[in-house]
Amino acid sequence: MNTESQLRADIVEVGRRMYARGYTASNDGNISVRLGSDRLLMTPKSVCKGFMTPDMMCVTDLEGRKLQGDRDPSSEMLMHLEVYRQRPDVQAVVHAHPPIATGFAVAGIPLDRAVLAEVLTTLGSIPIAEYATPSTKELPEAVRKYIKAHDGMLLANHGALTSGGDLYAAYYKMETIEHFAKISLVARLLGRENLIARDEVDRLQGLRGSYGIKAPAPICADPSEALALLDAGNPALCQVVQAPDGDGQRLVPDVIGSGPPLPTSSSRASAGVPQRSGTTGEIRLTYRELSDLIEDAVRSLR
Ligand SMILES: [Zn+2]
Repeated sequence: MNTESQLRADIVEVGRRMYARGYTASNDGNISVRLGSDRLLMTPKSVCKGFMTPDMMCVTDLEGRKLQGDRDPSSEMLMHLEVYRQRPDVQAVVHAHPPIATGFAVAGIPLDRAVLAEVLTTLGSIPIAEYATPSTKELPEAVRKYIKAHDGMLLANHGALTSGGDLYAAYYKMETIEHFAKISLVARLLGRENLIARDEVDRLQGLRGSYGIKAPAPICADPSEALALLDAGNPALCQVVQAPDGDGQRLVPDVIGSGPPLPTSSSRASAGVPQRSGTTGEIRLTYRELSDLIEDAVRSLR
């Protein structure tokens, strides 16, 4: 268990990193951690997160009453309290306005496409909580709809929110969201965003257990049904991931069972096995098959 002085120092460090990376400007953002079973340690109102000192932090109870500290707790305290109320497993909460992810939140585009294997295994999908006026009771209500099934979400026309089993886990999820948003933006600017197929998404979800990743909810088996339930005002119980049906685009080998290695492109060709192709006529290759093709091409150039 971290001591209070260590947690104060950790909040200072995470605040410094958020500010240095441009996730917050001026006095934006807020950070909190659980301090035992009935108290929270929280950043104060109206300070730049890049220039905090450990003595600035506030101690509150789980109802938001200040117990200790010269300053008042964060103006977004209600949102933090709601996360701890809904998620007993959460030890830390981070809120910031990382510009690319916040751009998606402003555009109303959730980060829910099956694009990056690592994001699928860790965060799953990143929905957008409906717009609510910052620092009011509306914001915790908007967050409540998604927090049971998600460790990270965008806040419409506002920013992003992450939670974790410790402060650095919550902070790294903020980094992952912004990184994912940057990559998604670049892919969309380039005009092409190849999605990982549904069966690969399922396989990646299976890896969560193998790697000890504790996701708050599974990926939805039927995204359209899950979205209809959300539209009807129900809380999210699973993570909506947009992925095309079909197989192919395997990014990782099976970890359960140890079958024979996948055939290479050259062995497939020699065995007369046709290459898989999608409905658009594109050829889909595994990483291994692609590596073999590149090696063949390099060899022929020598
Ligand atoms: Zn904010």
